[in-house]
Amino acid sequence: MSTLRFKALEQAQSRTPLNVTLPSVRVSDFYGVNVFSSEAMRSLLSPSMFKKVEQAIHQGATIEPEVADAVASAMKNWAILQGATHYTHWFQPLTGTTAEKHDAFFDVEHTGEVIEKFKGSALIRQEPDASSFPSGGLRATFEARGYTAWDPSSPAFIMEIEGSKTLCIPTVFVSYTGEALDYKTPLLKSLEALDKAAVPVCELFDKDVKKVFATLGPEQEYFLVDRALFYARPDLLMTGRTVFGHAPAKGQQLEDHYFGSIPARIRAFMVDFEIEANKLGIPVRTRHNEVAPAQFECAPTFEEINLAVDHNILLMDVMEKVAEKHNLKVLFHEKPFAGLNGTGKHNNWSMGTDTGKNLLSPSSKPRENLQFLTFFVNVVKAVHDNAALLRASIASASNDYRLGANEAPPAIISVFIGSEMTSVLKELEENANVKIEKGDNLYMKLGINKIPPILLDNTDRNRTSPFAFTGNKFEFRAVGGSANCSSAMTVLNLIVADQLLKFKQDVDEQLKNTDKKEVAIVNVLRNYIKQSKNILFEGDNYSEEWEKEAEKRGLPNFKSTPKALDAYVNKTTLALYENHNIMSPAEAHARHEVYLENYIRKVQIESRVMGDLALNHIVPTAVVYQNKLITNLKGLKDLGIETESTKTITELIKEISHHISEIQKSVNEMVEARKAANNITDSREKAITYQEKVKEAYFERIRYSVDKLELMVDDNDWPLVKYRELLFVR
Ligand code: ADP
Ligand code: MG
Repeated sequence: MSTLRFKALEQAQSRTPLNVTLPSVRVSDFYGVNVFSSEAMRSLLSPSMFKKVEQAIHQGATIEPEVADAVASAMKNWAILQGATHYTHWFQPLTGTTAEKHDAFFDVEHTGEVIEKFKGSALIRQEPDASSFPSGGLRATFEARGYTAWDPSSPAFIMEIEGSKTLCIPTVFVSYTGEALDYKTPLLKSLEALDKAAVPVCELFDKDVKKVFATLGPEQEYFLVDRALFYARPDLLMTGRTVFGHAPAKGQQLEDHYFGSIPARIRAFMVDFEIEANKLGIPVRTRHNEVAPAQFECAPTFEEINLAVDHNILLMDVMEKVAEKHNLKVLFHEKPFAGLNGTGKHNNWSMGTDTGKNLLSPSSKPRENLQFLTFFVNVVKAVHDNAALLRASIASASNDYRLGANEAPPAIISVFIGSEMTSVLKELEENANVKIEKGDNLYMKLGINKIPPILLDNTDRNRTSPFAFTGNKFEFRAVGGSANCSSAMTVLNLIVADQLLKFKQDVDEQLKNTDKKEVAIVNVLRNYIKQSKNILFEGDNYSEEWEKEAEKRGLPNFKSTPKALDAYVNKTTLALYENHNIMSPAEAHARHEVYLENYIRKVQIESRVMGDLALNHIVPTAVVYQNKLITNLKGLKDLGIETESTKTITELIKEISHHISEIQKSVNEMVEARKAANNITDSREKAITYQEKVKEAYFERIRYSVDKLELMVDDNDWPLVKYRELLFVR
């Protein structure tokens, strides 16, 4: 095994940066060339057809068969012209990755003639063999089949892989009777709910607003390791994280990696995947090193949320494919290395209108600021009232390692708003019951003229907060690096939609007593501020004091996924889902089941990998080394040499022997614990048992002994690529 490690190291060290040729044209010249854009469609469709498609895209109108046929034919011609030979419905099942099944455009007619075909029906709907995707029992209960259906609001694109080109059509994935089996369906429904609830609120301020949509800019963190080193670590290969490994002498203490210059080999990779992303119309903009060694970040410009989510997943896919070319592996796992910064995906979220306004952007004009404050306070209130659901939306086995660990937000949801907004809200709350006389400066009296024009230049940002206001958007930082943003964003859209509906009702109620709209609005906001104050926290979220303080405040703190997921199926959530037409209780329960199963499977696999590595790789290595020491000791004794060193060697042998038996004992017990857990039929109970009796009972214990042995055993014999090698060799 150690030979594999040294071979891998040799390979990794001999790599040179790949020569990436920059296109000779500007980015704007090739940006989106692989996208079947609105312009491409316009040029290929008749004006009346084009108008119908646009209506479907922007107003959700149904697509008639003849429109679908026209679009399909245009899409096919465009794609074939670009060199595509196949097409696929591209969807996001609950496995967490994307799924695709490629079909060729060409077909053989019964006459034997070969033609390129793509009908409207094939564009609109496909029936992939869905039996291998998780459904939480939905398909068993309702109908065995599932189908994918075209989402015209996200444009089709061409995926280039190693010379082959495939037309990918974004779709939703639902069971035959219409239950959602994917991430996209609920997201789209939550957007409808948000639009419906937010437009009437906008109308209080601006009658021109006809549509409200959410925006998202997901900052994607990731680690890069050499491909050979990756394959020499079975745990990375099987679980995406290292289950063992002693911390290197140098970790991230020096913070010298952050914003440091990007190493040549990495830069070549970045340039390469950015070009590919740009061709796909993904607006990647920012690249830099992150806090931990070998950690980096890539941030796109924000977009409409459905598109932004698709782009994020597509980007992850592109990064993985391009990395192969550079002999690198991208890690999106939330905690690939113990003791180092984890991997998150900061979800920068806001709401925009069809009039071009960002609803969370403050302004220097008091009148506009009342609108801003309305949306701002409603978001805070929504998070306050639904903190547990929001926590559930980011729960996964892998994110459990990150939340509450080094350099990561805790599992407690709180909101950071900064000192400026804190004083604005205070002012607003305290100026209660102002009487407005004629001629008074209404806005000054209401306390809403206080927002400085260039608000919050982001200088006093609190990086420890899981949910922070950063000037003109909220940043949900607890989302995991490997997650599909949809799950968190669906919940956020939904709870804000629900809150905005309530707000409108509350304002209407107030308007029975006052004819001044502004006074009614401010009164409602004041109440909300009082009711949701508890969720605001400006201090250090990583501290122990905060955990205690949060408990006093009664804020939920679910450290582990199995129980955090409860919030998905409690009465409030089921009602919320039903009221806004997101999901039926049956769908919600099925989804809950899938999440629990995912959790169980992840922990189970980690536990197996750990057991295998410990017993078949680590223990034998330690025994060999121990025998070397024993031989050495015997030799010394035969020669009659008794020194300090013979004592030390004796101690070392004892210590190694102690750790070996610790490992053997723990692994054997862990296997028994797993067997017991596997006998449990209730998924929730099984997941909790896996968490408590397998993961928490043994993982750290086994790791402790293995990591100790790593420090004792001869480096030449150690089978696993070490942390310093994974992190610093490139
Ligand atoms: P940070 O300092 O948090 O790393 P970045 O500049 O890397 O900030 O990322 C900020 C992200 O927020 C970008 O993706 C940006 O496009 C996004 N963003 C900016 N405005 C909005 C908005 N109105 N809605 C959603 N996202 C936004
Ligand atoms: Mg950020």
